[in-house]
Amino acid sequence: MRQQKIAIVGAGLVGSLWAVYLAKRGHLVQIFDRRPDIRKMKVVQGKSINLALSDRGWKGLAGAGVSEEIKKMAIPMSGRLMHSVKGELSYQPYGKMGQAIFSVSRGLLNQKLIEIAASNEKVELFFSHRCEDINLDSNEIRFVREEDRVNVHFTFDRIFGTDGAFSAVRSRLIKIDRFNYSQEYLSHGYKELEIPANSDGSHRMRNDCLHIWPRGEFMMIALPNLDGSFTCTLFIAFEGEVSFEHLQDEAKVKKFFHENFPDAYELMPELTGDFFANPNASLVMTKCYPWHYKDQIALLGDAAHAIVPFYGQGMNCGFEDCTIFDDLLNQNDEDWSAAFSDFSHLRKPSGDAILELALRNYIEMRDKTSDQHFLLQKKIEGYFSSKHPDRWTPLYSQVTFSDIPYEQALKEGDRQEKIMAKIMAIPGIEHSWNSDEIEQLILSELNKNV
Ligand SMILES: Cc1cc2nc3c(=O)[nH]c(=O)nc-3n(C[C@H](O)[C@H](O)[C@H](O)COP(=O)(O)OP(=O)(O)OC[C@H]3O[C@@H](n4cnc5c(N)ncnc54)[C@H](O)[C@@H]3O)c2cc1C
Repeated sequence: MRQQKIAIVGAGLVGSLWAVYLAKRGHLVQIFDRRPDIRKMKVVQGKSINLALSDRGWKGLAGAGVSEEIKKMAIPMSGRLMHSVKGELSYQPYGKMGQAIFSVSRGLLNQKLIEIAASNEKVELFFSHRCEDINLDSNEIRFVREEDRVNVHFTFDRIFGTDGAFSAVRSRLIKIDRFNYSQEYLSHGYKELEIPANSDGSHRMRNDCLHIWPRGEFMMIALPNLDGSFTCTLFIAFEGEVSFEHLQDEAKVKKFFHENFPDAYELMPELTGDFFANPNASLVMTKCYPWHYKDQIALLGDAAHAIVPFYGQGMNCGFEDCTIFDDLLNQNDEDWSAAFSDFSHLRKPSGDAILELALRNYIEMRDKTSDQHFLLQKKIEGYFSSKHPDRWTPLYSQVTFSDIPYEQALKEGDRQEKIMAKIMAIPGIEHSWNSDEIEQLILSELNKNV
């Protein structure tokens, strides 16, 4: 096994984790990022985005031997807590007893992963280096050094593009014959807001769940931070009747929050300041194929598959890319050519499936989580699954608490949905949902569908 000189373009979440994997394999890794060194920046938790980390992400972290470090900065959330307009609360567990997703600060997580990567003597980091172009014949990358705008060139055996949704590495691949690429923006965007901690540093709402204010065409969510604050994210259309376009002055923002999220409004003293200081951010989805070029370049993370955030899977999927690429290197005895092409073939259907699932979950989160019919369906599924765990794993659990391929989860979820449509159409189902008759019906439908 020859030691490789490897470039990782993008020291975000996936790039910094992938560096740890490659260095563990004994390769020389140079990571480049266009930003200055994030380790030198102060992360203010309530003011910075936090992410839900789940099983696929944990597995990716464990494979690099870093999950224990990260656990120290993660807060378990065992379910969703829905807030109605009247302030009524309803709780829905995410999975079985003991299962949870975890809130982590993106800034702190990225700092820690870079710190861990940098502690390996085989890893070298270059900040303020923006990738501009790649020469595919020589595998030479041209970077612009941000501080003096000078071009610098480096040549590598392999290059990994982990430079996110607007990847410069992918931009180079787009120019290759038969490389497919598509990009689409959601009509909705998001804005980060904050619920600060109490003066004693405690949380002002329950900190063991993900809070959702589902309002049909828009919604707000809040995830807890270690410092007692919550980062809230408002998802709303850019234009239209209820949209960013209409929330243009303090009075309108206050009225909108007071009417739609009254309980949260009381906890947001800096609401209007935050609202006008923080950007209206857009949400982009990208698809491309293949995810590699010969045995020279591969795309991982958002560079390969940028998805909307509604299943909380973008980073988890990116960390799973690391697990899978590492497995493929093992299976192929570090035959890079085979690993690169296997990765594209194997992972592309998973990327497409999680994009579809994430889009569907947007409707579910903003709309259906407050719908009694939907909540009853979830209750029946949960009940049936607890009695027949070998026959029924709810779709959310397949995606979040397992590592079965996303495309398999999507297919199985569609099959379950068809069965549940029949069950939910039974008159009086709200009374008979936990009867033997319903249980037998679901079993017989499952047997038909094997
Ligand atoms: C609002 C929101 C909420 C989300 N919530 C979740 C969640 O709960 N759970 C979850 O799993 N995922 C979530 N995601 C998705 C998650 O943030 C991404 O999937 C994840 O950050 C992807 O990691 P990455 O390393 O591939 O890309 P990034 O994190 O975007 O990192 C890319 C890096 O590349 C660098 N870079 C870019 N261009 C260049 C260049 N030309 N040269 C050099 N460097 C460059 C950037 O500076 C950056 O450091 C969310 C996303 C959003 C927008």
